Amino acid sequence: MKLKLSSQEPIDACIRKAVAPVICYPPNKSIAAPMDDYNLWRQSIELIDEIIVPPREAKIFTVDAGYFFRISCVDGPQVGDLNLWSKNNLNEHFYSGKTRALYGTHLSIGDRLFSCFPYLRPLATITYDTLDWYGYDADGGSVHDVIGTRCDPYTHFLLSADEYHHCCHSNLTRALQKYTALSMEEAEEKIHDVLNVFMCTGFTKDTHQYFMKASPVRQGDFLEFFAEIDLIGGLSACPGGDCGSEHSSDVALCYPLKVEIYKPMQSLVNWQSPAPSSYSRNHRQQC
Ligand SMILES: [Zn+2]
Repeated sequence: MKLKLSSQEPIDACIRKAVAPVICYPPNKSIAAPMDDYNLWRQSIELIDEIIVPPREAKIFTVDAGYFFRISCVDGPQVGDLNLWSKNNLNEHFYSGKTRALYGTHLSIGDRLFSCFPYLRPLATITYDTLDWYGYDADGGSVHDVIGTRCDPYTHFLLSADEYHHCCHSNLTRALQKYTALSMEEAEEKIHDVLNVFMCTGFTKDTHQYFMKASPVRQGDFLEFFAEIDLIGGLSACPGGDCGSEHSSDVALCYPLKVEIYKPMQSLVNWQSPAPSSYSRNHRQQC
Protein backbone atom coordinates (compact mmCIF):
# COMPACT_ATOMS: atom_id res chain seq x y z
CA MET A 1 0.00 0.00 0.00
CA LYS A 2 1.27 3.45 -0.85
CA LEU A 3 -0.51 5.52 1.76
CA LYS A 4 2.33 7.77 2.93
CA LEU A 5 4.48 10.05 0.86
CA SER A 6 8.05 10.02 2.17
CA SER A 7 9.94 11.18 -0.89
CA GLN A 8 10.11 14.65 -2.44
CA GLU A 9 7.93 14.93 -5.52
CA PRO A 10 9.96 16.11 -8.53
CA ILE A 11 8.76 19.24 -10.32
CA ASP A 12 7.93 17.25 -13.44
CA ALA A 13 5.96 14.58 -11.55
CA CYS A 14 2.76 15.33 -13.47
CA ILE A 15 4.52 14.96 -16.81
CA ARG A 16 6.14 11.69 -15.80
CA LYS A 17 2.82 10.29 -14.61
CA ALA A 18 0.92 11.42 -17.69
CA VAL A 19 2.70 9.19 -20.19
CA ALA A 20 0.34 6.72 -21.83
CA PRO A 21 0.32 3.14 -20.61
CA VAL A 22 1.37 0.44 -23.03
CA ILE A 23 -0.22 -3.01 -22.97
CA CYS A 24 2.62 -5.39 -22.13
CA TYR A 25 1.27 -8.26 -24.20
CA PRO A 26 -1.22 -7.07 -26.84
CA PRO A 27 -3.48 -9.74 -28.35
CA ASN A 28 -1.28 -11.97 -30.46
CA LYS A 29 -2.40 -14.27 -33.27
CA SER A 30 0.26 -16.85 -32.43
CA ILE A 31 -1.42 -17.71 -29.13
CA ALA A 32 -5.03 -17.22 -30.22
CA ALA A 33 -7.21 -20.28 -29.75
CA PRO A 34 -9.13 -21.67 -32.78
CA MET A 35 -12.44 -20.79 -31.16
CA ASP A 36 -14.51 -21.48 -34.29
CA ASP A 37 -13.35 -25.11 -34.14
CA TYR A 38 -13.86 -25.37 -30.39
CA ASN A 39 -17.35 -23.88 -30.66
CA LEU A 40 -18.21 -26.44 -33.31
CA TRP A 41 -16.79 -29.39 -31.38
CA ARG A 42 -18.49 -28.43 -28.13
CA GLN A 43 -21.88 -28.72 -29.84
CA SER A 44 -21.65 -32.53 -29.82
CA ILE A 45 -20.01 -33.87 -26.68
CA GLU A 46 -20.73 -36.90 -24.52
CA LEU A 47 -20.52 -36.88 -20.73
CA ILE A 48 -18.13 -39.67 -19.73
CA ASP A 49 -17.29 -38.92 -16.09
CA GLU A 50 -18.25 -36.66 -13.23
CA ILE A 51 -16.60 -35.94 -9.92
CA ILE A 52 -18.21 -34.28 -6.92
CA VAL A 53 -15.87 -32.12 -4.86
CA PRO A 54 -17.15 -32.00 -1.27
CA PRO A 55 -17.17 -28.69 0.65
CA ARG A 56 -13.77 -27.79 2.18
CA GLU A 57 -12.10 -30.66 0.32
CA ALA A 58 -10.36 -31.16 -3.04
CA LYS A 59 -10.55 -33.88 -5.67
CA ILE A 60 -8.26 -34.88 -8.50
CA PHE A 61 -9.58 -35.55 -12.01
CA THR A 62 -7.98 -36.39 -15.34
CA VAL A 63 -8.87 -35.17 -18.83
CA ASP A 64 -7.50 -36.44 -22.13
CA ALA A 65 -6.21 -33.96 -24.68
CA GLY A 66 -8.99 -32.86 -26.98
CA TYR A 67 -11.71 -33.46 -24.38
CA PHE A 68 -13.77 -30.81 -22.60
CA PHE A 69 -14.33 -30.39 -18.87
CA ARG A 70 -16.76 -28.26 -16.92
CA ILE A 71 -16.69 -26.98 -13.36
CA SER A 72 -20.29 -26.54 -12.23
CA CYS A 73 -22.11 -24.98 -9.31
CA VAL A 74 -24.55 -27.67 -8.21
CA ASP A 75 -25.88 -26.26 -4.92
CA GLY A 76 -25.31 -22.95 -3.13
CA PRO A 77 -22.79 -20.35 -4.36
CA GLN A 78 -19.30 -21.78 -4.06
CA VAL A 79 -15.82 -20.80 -5.19
CA GLY A 80 -13.31 -23.35 -6.53
CA ASP A 81 -9.51 -23.23 -6.61
CA LEU A 82 -8.15 -24.97 -9.71
CA ASN A 83 -4.70 -26.48 -10.24
CA LEU A 84 -3.64 -28.09 -13.54
CA TRP A 85 -0.68 -30.32 -14.34
CA SER A 86 0.55 -32.18 -17.39
CA LYS A 87 -0.56 -35.79 -16.87
CA ASN A 88 2.89 -36.99 -17.93
CA ASN A 89 4.99 -34.49 -15.98
CA LEU A 90 3.87 -32.90 -12.73
CA ASN A 91 6.65 -30.34 -13.07
CA GLU A 92 4.66 -28.74 -15.87
CA HIS A 93 1.80 -26.91 -14.22
CA PHE A 94 -0.46 -23.89 -14.61
CA TYR A 95 1.33 -20.52 -14.47
CA SER A 96 -1.22 -18.03 -13.18
CA GLY A 97 1.19 -15.07 -13.21
CA LYS A 98 2.06 -15.30 -16.91
CA THR A 99 -1.55 -16.10 -17.79
CA ARG A 100 -2.51 -12.89 -15.95
CA ALA A 101 0.15 -10.93 -17.82
CA LEU A 102 -1.16 -12.24 -21.14
CA TYR A 103 -4.92 -11.84 -20.57
CA GLY A 104 -5.57 -9.68 -17.51
CA THR A 105 -6.70 -10.20 -13.93
CA HIS A 106 -9.82 -12.25 -14.71
CA LEU A 107 -10.32 -14.91 -17.39
CA SER A 108 -13.20 -15.85 -19.66
CA ILE A 109 -14.01 -17.37 -23.05
CA GLY A 110 -11.04 -17.66 -25.39
CA ASP A 111 -8.41 -17.19 -22.68
CA ARG A 112 -5.87 -19.94 -22.36
CA LEU A 113 -4.27 -21.29 -19.19
CA PHE A 114 -0.51 -21.39 -19.85
CA SER A 115 2.02 -23.70 -18.22
CA CYS A 116 5.17 -22.70 -16.35
CA PHE A 117 8.71 -22.35 -17.74
CA PRO A 118 10.36 -23.93 -19.62
CA TYR A 119 7.20 -25.33 -21.23
CA LEU A 120 4.98 -22.25 -21.60
CA ARG A 121 2.16 -23.69 -23.69
CA PRO A 122 -1.62 -23.69 -23.33
CA LEU A 123 -2.79 -26.40 -20.94
CA ALA A 124 -6.47 -25.56 -21.43
CA THR A 125 -8.67 -22.98 -23.14
CA ILE A 126 -11.89 -21.57 -21.70
CA THR A 127 -14.68 -22.41 -24.15
CA TYR A 128 -17.81 -21.34 -22.24
CA ASP A 129 -18.59 -19.20 -19.21
CA THR A 130 -22.15 -18.74 -17.98
CA LEU A 131 -20.94 -15.79 -15.87
CA ASP A 132 -19.44 -13.78 -18.71
CA TRP A 133 -22.44 -11.42 -18.41
CA TYR A 134 -20.86 -10.13 -15.18
CA GLY A 135 -18.03 -8.29 -16.88
CA TYR A 136 -16.52 -5.80 -14.41
CA ASP A 137 -18.72 -4.30 -11.69
CA ALA A 138 -18.70 -0.79 -10.20
CA ASP A 139 -16.02 -1.82 -7.69
CA GLY A 140 -13.78 -3.07 -10.47
CA GLY A 141 -14.49 -6.64 -9.44
CA SER A 142 -14.98 -9.63 -11.71
CA VAL A 143 -15.04 -13.42 -11.62
CA HIS A 144 -12.49 -16.19 -12.35
CA ASP A 145 -9.37 -14.36 -11.18
CA VAL A 146 -5.70 -15.17 -11.55
CA ILE A 147 -4.60 -12.67 -8.90
CA GLY A 148 -5.49 -14.34 -5.61
CA THR A 149 -3.02 -17.25 -5.35
CA ARG A 150 -4.94 -19.67 -3.04
CA CYS A 151 -5.92 -19.64 0.62
CA ASP A 152 -3.24 -21.39 2.65
CA PRO A 153 -2.42 -22.32 6.24
CA TYR A 154 0.87 -20.44 6.27
CA THR A 155 -0.59 -16.99 5.66
CA HIS A 156 -3.43 -17.81 8.04
CA PHE A 157 -0.95 -18.81 10.75
CA LEU A 158 1.19 -15.76 10.05
CA LEU A 159 -1.76 -13.46 10.59
CA SER A 160 -3.59 -15.28 13.38
CA ALA A 161 -1.26 -17.90 14.95
CA ASP A 162 -4.12 -20.33 14.38
CA GLU A 163 -3.78 -23.68 12.62
CA TYR A 164 -6.45 -24.43 10.00
CA HIS A 165 -6.09 -27.50 7.78
CA HIS A 166 -8.80 -27.07 5.15
CA CYS A 167 -7.44 -24.13 3.18
CA CYS A 168 -7.36 -24.80 -0.57
CA HIS A 169 -3.57 -25.28 -0.42
CA SER A 170 -3.97 -28.09 2.13
CA ASN A 171 -7.00 -29.60 0.39
CA LEU A 172 -5.10 -29.76 -2.91
CA THR A 173 -2.02 -31.16 -1.17
CA ARG A 174 -3.98 -34.01 0.44
CA ALA A 175 -5.83 -34.79 -2.81
CA LEU A 176 -2.66 -34.90 -4.92
CA GLN A 177 -0.82 -36.93 -2.29
CA LYS A 178 -3.59 -39.50 -2.31
CA TYR A 179 -3.75 -39.63 -6.12
CA THR A 180 -0.02 -39.88 -6.75
CA ALA A 181 1.28 -41.68 -3.65
CA LEU A 182 3.91 -38.96 -3.32
CA SER A 183 4.84 -38.04 0.23
CA MET A 184 2.83 -35.17 1.70
CA GLU A 185 5.90 -32.92 1.41
CA GLU A 186 6.50 -33.88 -2.23
CA ALA A 187 2.85 -33.38 -3.09
CA GLU A 188 2.78 -29.97 -1.41
CA GLU A 189 5.65 -28.80 -3.61
CA LYS A 190 3.49 -29.45 -6.69
CA ILE A 191 0.66 -27.19 -5.54
CA HIS A 192 0.70 -23.85 -7.32
CA ASP A 193 -1.21 -20.60 -7.71
CA VAL A 194 -4.71 -21.19 -8.95
CA LEU A 195 -7.48 -20.06 -11.22
CA ASN A 196 -10.10 -18.89 -8.75
CA VAL A 197 -13.19 -20.30 -10.43
CA PHE A 198 -16.40 -18.31 -9.75
CA MET A 199 -14.59 -16.10 -7.19
CA CYS A 200 -15.40 -12.37 -7.43
CA THR A 201 -12.37 -10.23 -6.72
CA GLY A 202 -10.54 -7.07 -7.61
CA PHE A 203 -8.30 -4.32 -6.30
CA THR A 204 -9.69 -1.37 -4.36
CA LYS A 205 -9.50 1.88 -6.29
CA ASP A 206 -7.73 3.88 -3.56
CA THR A 207 -5.19 1.49 -1.99
CA HIS A 208 -5.23 -1.19 -4.70
CA GLN A 209 -5.67 -3.87 -2.05
CA TYR A 210 -6.97 -7.27 -3.07
CA PHE A 211 -10.65 -7.63 -2.23
CA MET A 212 -13.28 -10.31 -2.54
CA LYS A 213 -17.05 -10.08 -2.58
CA ALA A 214 -19.85 -12.65 -2.61
CA SER A 215 -19.69 -14.63 -5.84
CA PRO A 216 -22.60 -14.10 -8.25
CA VAL A 217 -22.49 -17.82 -9.16
CA ARG A 218 -25.73 -19.72 -8.82
CA GLN A 219 -26.81 -23.33 -9.25
CA GLY A 220 -26.43 -24.35 -12.89
CA ASP A 221 -23.58 -21.98 -13.71
CA PHE A 222 -20.44 -23.53 -15.18
CA LEU A 223 -17.02 -22.73 -16.59
CA GLU A 224 -15.99 -24.96 -19.51
CA PHE A 225 -12.50 -25.78 -20.77
CA PHE A 226 -10.93 -27.55 -23.72
CA ALA A 227 -7.98 -29.71 -22.61
CA GLU A 228 -5.01 -28.88 -24.85
CA ILE A 229 -2.85 -31.71 -23.49
CA ASP A 230 -3.46 -34.72 -21.25
CA LEU A 231 -4.22 -33.14 -17.90
CA ILE A 232 -4.48 -33.83 -14.21
CA GLY A 233 -6.72 -31.30 -12.51
CA GLY A 234 -7.14 -30.52 -8.84
CA LEU A 235 -10.19 -28.63 -7.62
CA SER A 236 -10.77 -27.43 -4.06
CA ALA A 237 -14.17 -26.25 -2.83
CA CYS A 238 -12.82 -23.25 -0.92
CA PRO A 239 -13.63 -23.01 2.81
CA GLY A 240 -14.67 -19.43 2.05
CA GLY A 241 -17.85 -20.70 0.29
CA ASP A 242 -18.98 -17.77 -1.87
CA CYS A 243 -16.04 -15.79 -0.39
CA GLY A 244 -18.37 -13.01 0.70
CA SER A 245 -17.14 -12.90 4.29
CA GLU A 246 -14.04 -14.88 5.26
CA HIS A 247 -11.98 -17.90 4.36
CA SER A 248 -9.46 -20.09 6.19
CA SER A 249 -12.13 -21.14 8.71
CA ASP A 250 -15.28 -23.24 9.02
CA VAL A 251 -17.46 -20.12 9.42
CA ALA A 252 -18.73 -19.66 5.85
CA LEU A 253 -21.47 -21.79 4.32
CA CYS A 254 -19.82 -24.18 1.87
CA TYR A 255 -21.24 -26.30 -0.93
CA PRO A 256 -19.98 -29.00 -3.31
CA LEU A 257 -18.78 -28.39 -6.84
CA LYS A 258 -18.97 -30.79 -9.77
CA VAL A 259 -16.41 -31.55 -12.46
CA GLU A 260 -17.76 -33.09 -15.65
CA ILE A 261 -15.58 -34.66 -18.35
CA TYR A 262 -16.88 -34.61 -21.92
CA LYS A 263 -15.67 -36.53 -24.97
CA PRO A 264 -16.16 -34.88 -28.37
CA MET A 265 -18.33 -36.99 -30.68
CA GLN A 266 -16.44 -36.05 -33.85
CA SER A 267 -12.79 -36.33 -34.80
CA LEU A 268 -10.85 -33.15 -34.24
CA VAL A 269 -9.70 -32.40 -37.76
CA ASN A 270 -6.34 -30.66 -38.13
CA TRP A 271 -5.84 -30.36 -34.39
CA GLN A 272 -2.94 -31.48 -32.23
CA SER A 273 -1.69 -30.61 -28.78
CA PRO A 274 0.54 -27.54 -28.65
CA ALA A 275 4.23 -28.31 -28.25
CA PRO A 276 6.31 -26.99 -25.34
CA SER A 277 8.25 -23.80 -25.96
CA SER A 278 10.99 -24.09 -28.58
CA TYR A 279 13.16 -21.49 -26.91
CA SER A 280 16.74 -22.80 -26.94
CA ARG A 281 17.22 -22.27 -23.19
CA ASN A 282 20.57 -20.82 -24.12
CA HIS A 283 20.35 -17.81 -21.76
CA ARG A 284 23.85 -16.73 -22.71
CA GLN A 285 24.94 -13.18 -23.18
CA GLN A 286 25.64 -12.46 -26.82
CA CYS A 287 29.28 -11.67 -27.69
ZN1 LIG B 1 -9.58 -21.22 -0.89
